Amino acid sequence: MLQDIEMQVRYTRAMIRRNALNPRVMAAMSKVPRHKFVDPAMLDRAYYDGPLPIGCGQTISQPFIVALMTELAEVEEGGKVLEVGTGSGYQTAILAELVQQVYSIEIIPELGEQACKCLQQIGYENIETRIGDGHAGWEEEAPFDAVLVTAAAEAIPPRLIEQLKPGGRLIIPVGPAYSHQDLIVVEKDGQGNISQWTALGVAFVPLTGGH
Ligand code: SAH
Repeated sequence: MLQDIEMQVRYTRAMIRRNALNPRVMAAMSKVPRHKFVDPAMLDRAYYDGPLPIGCGQTISQPFIVALMTELAEVEEGGKVLEVGTGSGYQTAILAELVQQVYSIEIIPELGEQACKCLQQIGYENIETRIGDGHAGWEEEAPFDAVLVTAAAEAIPPRLIEQLKPGGRLIIPVGPAYSHQDLIVVEKDGQGNISQWTALGVAFVPLTGGH
């Protein structure tokens, strides 16, 4: 799996503006047991570099995309990060290896509850999960060093930009459901100015809710 990720980084390096991923990110990818987050019926594919179904019409993201989003978020040890779209909890676990505290929101109760159990079983103590609509972010715990959205939005939810610290980053796929989405990196500088760039074309399940 790690070799497949390195190969994808080489193919996409001009777009993603990286020649290699941070060794801390690769160490987290090698440490987290992905087989504990996949459907037991798909155990043989747990370390294949592609997405897999996790029930309720949702997927656990492709390992390369998980590693890339983590890299682009540029998270540091003392950091506080928000994830929208807990899903299986796999990306949540990767983040928890790298920062001080992770908050993760899932809109489908069944998935959120199962991910929470799985993360507790593995022993993570720096993750808080909640069931709800991530469009509103997590006001009580804001601001965040980084926000990662793991479902595709039609437009960037403004609350998620508001809840970034100065110097913070929002990583979010934007575009129509299942096709031609852009993985966008939104950066808020020390003065609060916002800029953005597109790292890659991606295909995520849609971000629902927002009404
Ligand atoms: N990070 C997850 C990705 C799961 S797929 C993993 O790798 O396992 C995206 C998830 O986002 C789905 O579980 C979906 O239910 C959830 N989702 C969609 N819209 C949402 C919203 N508005 N708020 C929170 N979660 C949402």
